[in-house]
Amino acid sequence: MDVIEIITKSALVRSKISGVDYVINPFLGCGHGCRYCYAVFMRKYSHHHRQAPWGTFVEVKVNLVEVLRSELRRKKHRGRALLSSVCDPYQPVELKYQLTRRCLETLRDYGWGIDILTRSPLVTRDLDILAEMPEVTVGLSIPTDNDQVRKVLEPNAPPLGARLTALQRLHEAGIPTWVFIAPILPMNPRKLYEAISAYITHLRVDPLNYRNQVEEIFRRNQWDYALTDKYAAQTRAALLRMWANKVN
Ligand code: SF4
Repeated sequence: MDVIEIITKSALVRSKISGVDYVINPFLGCGHGCRYCYAVFMRKYSHHHRQAPWGTFVEVKVNLVEVLRSELRRKKHRGRALLSSVCDPYQPVELKYQLTRRCLETLRDYGWGIDILTRSPLVTRDLDILAEMPEVTVGLSIPTDNDQVRKVLEPNAPPLGARLTALQRLHEAGIPTWVFIAPILPMNPRKLYEAISAYITHLRVDPLNYRNQVEEIFRRNQWDYALTDKYAAQTRAALLRMWANKVN
């Protein structure tokens, strides 16, 4: 993994994502290296890795927290930020740099609302800060119930069992948690639903958008059926039906 440190000019980026005002992305590049990653386009913003294969580099915005603090000082109103919209905020380099953690501390100090989205149980490291934030949600991306599928398509992302344990821990700590089933991968929808439903306040489901990136891998593993619109629509409908019928 080629990890380099870079200087950023901005921290809060205006967003059209529903429910949030800004996004914050501490890293450019992602060590999880998901084969279907939608964030590959981010390479065009890199001065160092435009041609590098996705998943082989991370650029760390080492001055991000100072920039964030200065931006927050100038804001007239409190807002809500998503960490992160592209490039996982709890990918492995976060262990060393603690950029996400320090952004959370700063946003907490300014009373901002936060939504977190990650594939990593490392988010539970920051339970102490999350517990002090009145307006926080944590989303775990869990796109299948099958860890063999995860190993092929998300080779460097944490195992599904560890994500489920993190989800449970956050829920038991009183943090509003949700699951983002995206993209819809080969799965048993009922098993996935049963694994997550007790620990979430809401569920989002999105199809596989960049099929050409993974078509060959799907065919090699005899998952062709999961490349069709029909599979995505049926799986999404099954998951949302179970969620709508949930007995609390
Ligand atoms: S964790 Fe997210 S940003 Fe990172 S490689 Fe996977 S899909 Fe892309």
